[in-house]
Amino acid sequence: MRHIKGQGAFKRRGLMLVLSSPSGAGKTTIAREILNRDPNLVMSISATTRSIRPGEIEGKDYYFIDKKDFEARINSDNFIEYARVFDNYYGTPKDPVEKAMSAGHDILFDIDWQGTQQLVSKQNIMQDVVTIFILPPNVSELERRLKNRAQDSLAVVKHRMSKVSDELSHYPEYQYVIVNSEIRDSVDQVEQILSAERCKIERQIGLHDFVQNLRNLS
Ligand code: 5GP
Repeated sequence: MRHIKGQGAFKRRGLMLVLSSPSGAGKTTIAREILNRDPNLVMSISATTRSIRPGEIEGKDYYFIDKKDFEARINSDNFIEYARVFDNYYGTPKDPVEKAMSAGHDILFDIDWQGTQQLVSKQNIMQDVVTIFILPPNVSELERRLKNRAQDSLAVVKHRMSKVSDELSHYPEYQYVIVNSEIRDSVDQVEQILSAERCKIERQIGLHDFVQNLRNLS
């Protein structure tokens, strides 16, 4: 993202950008692209009990842990949110999020509607959460993307397809929607949302003093 002059004149609260979609809508590709474009954005790496797919990297795509370990972490309150998705656990570790936020970064979350519901219901962070729902342009494209992924067995693809309608029904719980016809257009839209959200008055720390200073000079 191009650096905008004037931004950085005073501090801003970090924001938590959530991308959700039914599987196969292209959300992971959008997430990867927006991270490339924006150096202030860091990815939240989830923990999961699902098996690692070919090409995935431990600690980059997910922390792959077993069910016992996951449940122990639930009990020690290690997750900011967690959910069961497609018969596996997925959860967002709390510590890295808190560290990134206090370092002034914005954080990107690739989580489902259950995790999003948990984040937006937390009093202490709800104002920092910005939610975007990604829709596929049509069903055949969704099916094509799921099958082309080729990392999952046919049974897994079928199971995921059967959940699509359910997942789609959660779009009204989000603040923004993007129809992902062209990846580049979708990434542009995420960038624009992020840019506008960063300018919100309530996120600016030190704005009052900055303006006070300007007023004193005039
Ligand atoms: P996949 O197995 O395809 O990587 O992810 C399946 C679903 O789990 C996706 O919709 C993804 O957004 C969601 N997911 C990934 N990590 C998390 C997480 O930490 N929490 C929640 N609630 N969902 C997650």
